[in-house]
Amino acid sequence: MVNYSLKSGDQLSSRSILIWRIVQTLVWLVGVLILFNLIFNPTIGIHLFWNILIPVAPALLVVAVGVWRNVCPLASTVLFPRHLGLSKRKKLTFAQIGKLNLVAVIALFAVVPLRHAIFDMNGPATALLIMSLTIIAVIVGSRYEWKSAWCSGLCPVHAVEKLYGLKNKLSLPNAHCDKCYRCVTPCPDTTPAINPLSSKKTTYHKIAGTLMVGAFPGFIWGWFQVPDYPGITGIEQLILIYKMPMIGLFVTSILFLVLKKIFQEKILIAIFSAAAVSCYYWFRLPALFGFGVFPGDGMLIDLSATFPEWLITVTVFATTLFFFWWIVFSKQHKMSWVVRPDYADKEVELMGV
Ligand code: SF4
Repeated sequence: MVNYSLKSGDQLSSRSILIWRIVQTLVWLVGVLILFNLIFNPTIGIHLFWNILIPVAPALLVVAVGVWRNVCPLASTVLFPRHLGLSKRKKLTFAQIGKLNLVAVIALFAVVPLRHAIFDMNGPATALLIMSLTIIAVIVGSRYEWKSAWCSGLCPVHAVEKLYGLKNKLSLPNAHCDKCYRCVTPCPDTTPAINPLSSKKTTYHKIAGTLMVGAFPGFIWGWFQVPDYPGITGIEQLILIYKMPMIGLFVTSILFLVLKKIFQEKILIAIFSAAAVSCYYWFRLPALFGFGVFPGDGMLIDLSATFPEWLITVTVFATTLFFFWWIVFSKQHKMSWVVRPDYADKEVELMGV
């Protein structure tokens, strides 16, 4: 476990800020490079985005979600106006944040199945998706204070961060917010042991959280039962790419709601989180290396003639054991993803409001 010396309220030194800005810039440039390749060199772009970045992301969110919160290139783009003092810095209400969280979860379930028909095989379409999300993110991000509207609101990846980043063992400095303006409560970055159901302030929060925990494992399982269909030719194909993810989503949601009556919610969230990420790698790792259920789909490199199949089987069993140990059985530390900076309003802090 990393014993980071910063604690809540500590400020970053100018040297640390410089280092984080350099890292953020480098990761941002990698993001631009991927975008450029998706448009002008789609084969490379698709490998870089769908077959390297996206497969690495879930594991990163499990073991070090704070790293991603600090360096995500989309977050850096969204928060750039705020760093320059150009944001309107409006405050969202609880209900508005709940609505944004719910839209994010629905968008995740609506867009991901389209990978099978469009995005996994079409670099420019993937670039268009990323650019559309960036435009939406910059519009909302430059209107509302710090991460409230996008990074902790409307970003579909944020819903996954809250599900996978349950057992944080690495608390990093907050490389974006200079001070805490309480733009979102509870702040996902700075609240220890945050989970998708930590906030039940409104019905929107409750539905978004329940959907994310209950539906995600089944959704992932269903997604991997569908082959790629290059280009949508009709409504039948649309039904095909949505059918299995939606069946999976429905089954595990019902299971979660039933089990919630019997078991402690916190334990169930951890089990469903571990099940979701394990299921992802159970199918994704074989597909990446040429051992997939649908040969060629989502393949990075074909190692099927080089390595025996039992090796990939052992690997997916090992990743499953690791994720269940990390998320369900390992010790819960009182650590947030990143350290909360000093409150902007000290008086409010002293009053404990
Ligand atoms: S640390 Fe404070 S200002 Fe930054 S995102 Fe969290 S609540 Fe908002």
